[in-house]
Amino acid sequence: MKYDVIIIGAGPGGIFSAYELTKLAPHMKVAVFEAGHALNKRRCPIDGKKIKTCIGCKSCSIMSGFGGAGAFSDGKYNITNDFGGTLYEYIGKKHALELMHYVDEINLAYGGEGTKLYTTAGSSFKKQCIQHDLHLLEASVRHLGTDINYVVLENLYNYLKDKVDFYFDTPVETINITDGGYEVVCKEGTYPCGKCIISVGRIGSKWMEKVCSELDIPTHSNRVDIGVRVELPAEVFSHITDELYESKIVYRTEKYGDKVRTFCMNPKGAVVNENTNGIITVNGHSYEDPAKQTENTNFALLVAKHFSEPFKDSNGYGESIARLSNMLGGGVIVQRFGDLIRGKRSTQERIDEAFITPTLNATAGDLSLVLPKRILDGIIEMIYALDKVAPGTANDDTLLYGVEVKFYNMEVEVNEKLQSKYDGLYIIGDGSGITHSLSHASASGVYVARNIAE
Ligand SMILES: Cc1cc2nc3c(=O)[nH]c(=O)nc-3n(C[C@H](O)[C@H](O)[C@H](O)COP(=O)(O)OP(=O)(O)OC[C@H]3O[C@@H](n4cnc5c(N)ncnc54)[C@H](O)[C@@H]3O)c2cc1C
Repeated sequence: MKYDVIIIGAGPGGIFSAYELTKLAPHMKVAVFEAGHALNKRRCPIDGKKIKTCIGCKSCSIMSGFGGAGAFSDGKYNITNDFGGTLYEYIGKKHALELMHYVDEINLAYGGEGTKLYTTAGSSFKKQCIQHDLHLLEASVRHLGTDINYVVLENLYNYLKDKVDFYFDTPVETINITDGGYEVVCKEGTYPCGKCIISVGRIGSKWMEKVCSELDIPTHSNRVDIGVRVELPAEVFSHITDELYESKIVYRTEKYGDKVRTFCMNPKGAVVNENTNGIITVNGHSYEDPAKQTENTNFALLVAKHFSEPFKDSNGYGESIARLSNMLGGGVIVQRFGDLIRGKRSTQERIDEAFITPTLNATAGDLSLVLPKRILDGIIEMIYALDKVAPGTANDDTLLYGVEVKFYNMEVEVNEKLQSKYDGLYIIGDGSGITHSLSHASASGVYVARNIAE
C-alpha cells in the first residue's frame, strides 16, 4: 500500500493533521501509525487499590494511543501565544491564534458545545497581581474537562475512521528516505509514502532523537521545569478560578531572580500520579461534571532550569530528582507547608489532623531532602507572594506534593513550514519541541496539513 501522506502518532498533532487533510484533500490516501491502543482500549491498570504503582505496560495508556498524552487530560484548551509553545515563532502570532481558534471550533462541533471559555481580558485580577509583583499571562481557556475531552476524541475518531487508515499498536521503527518520498518501517511491514508528518509527542522523544541522529537533522535542548503540586481548599482560589478557571502567574524571586510559575490549575480537582519512563511524578485533573468534583483546588508551582553547554541532559536531571522522591517515598511525597518551613518532615498523623483532605494517597515525608535548595527557596517565596492575592495559600495545612517535573523535548530544526531539511518530512507537536500543549500541537497539525494540501 502506498500512501500520499503517513502521519506518525495519533495525539492532537496527528489527529488534526489527518482531520484537515480529509477536509482539504479528500482524494489523498492518508494513514496514521500509532504505537498505542485505540481509544476504547486505553486503560491504565493503576486503580490505587489492587495496583498502586506502574507495572510497566508495553504501551502506557496514559501517554499513548488515540488522543495521545491529552486523552485523559483535563482538556484545558489554552488559546494564547504567551505559553504552551513557540509555534508563533515559525508562523506568526496572528496565524497561530487563528489556527487555535479554528481547532476550538472543531472541538465544539464534535462534542465540546456548551463548555465554558474563560478569558483574562479585562480581568481586575491582573492589576491585583501586578501590585504584588505577580504577572498574569494573557489567555483564553476552554475547559473541556476530562470527561468531555474523551467524548470529543471519540467523535473525531468516528469521523476519521472511514477516511483514514489507522494502524494501532504499531510503533514505527525507522524512516527511510527513498526516491520521491519516504518509507515507514514497522515490525509488521514497510509502507511507502510521498510525505510524512511526525507527531510523536513526549513519549516519542527518545525515538525522535534516534531518527534525527540517523537522518542528521540538527536538534537543541537545555530546559526542564521542576517543582511541586500545591493543594488547598477550593475557597482560597475561588475568586480567581471562578472568573478565569486557569491562571498562569509568573513571579521572579528576590533571592535568585529565578522565574517561578503556576501551571495546570485544577479547581475542585484531584491530584494524580503520573508515570514517566517508570518514574512516578505528580499531576492534576479536574472534571466538568459537578458529581466528580472535590473540595480542593490544585496547581503546580514550577521553576524553569536552563542549562548551558557542555551539559545536555536536562531531562535526565529532572528524572534524577523525581527518582530521589520515589526512593524516599516509594512514589510521590506529600508535605504540609507548615512542616516544610519549620524543617520538619510531615507524618501521616499530622496529615490526617490537617483541615484539608488530600485527594492523592501519597507518602508523608520531607521535600527538602529531594528538591535542590534553590528550587525549594523559589517555591516557598512564590507561595508567600501568592498568599497576598489569594490569602490562605501560605497556611500551614497547604499540601505540597513532589515532585512535579515538566520535561521538554529537544527542539528539532525545522523551517517556517515545520518541514525538516528534507522536502516533505514535517515534524510537529510536542515531539518537535516547539509545542507543549493541546492547542499548539493541534494547530501545528492543521498548519502542515494545509501546506500539504496546497
Ligand atoms: C496527564 C496530562 C495532562 C495534560 N493536560 C493538559 C491540558 O489540560 N492542557 C494542555 O494544553 N495540555 C495538557 N497536557 C499536554 C498535552 O497532552 C500535550 O501537549 C499534547 O497531547 C501534545 O500533542 P502531540 O500530538 O504533540 O503528542 P502526544 O499527545 O504525546 O501524542 C503522540 C502520540 O505518538 C505516539 N507515538 C510515539 N512514538 C511513536 C512511534 N515511534 N510510532 C508510532 N506512534 C508513536 C504516542 O503513542 C502518542 O499517542 C497534558 C499532558 C498529560 C500527560
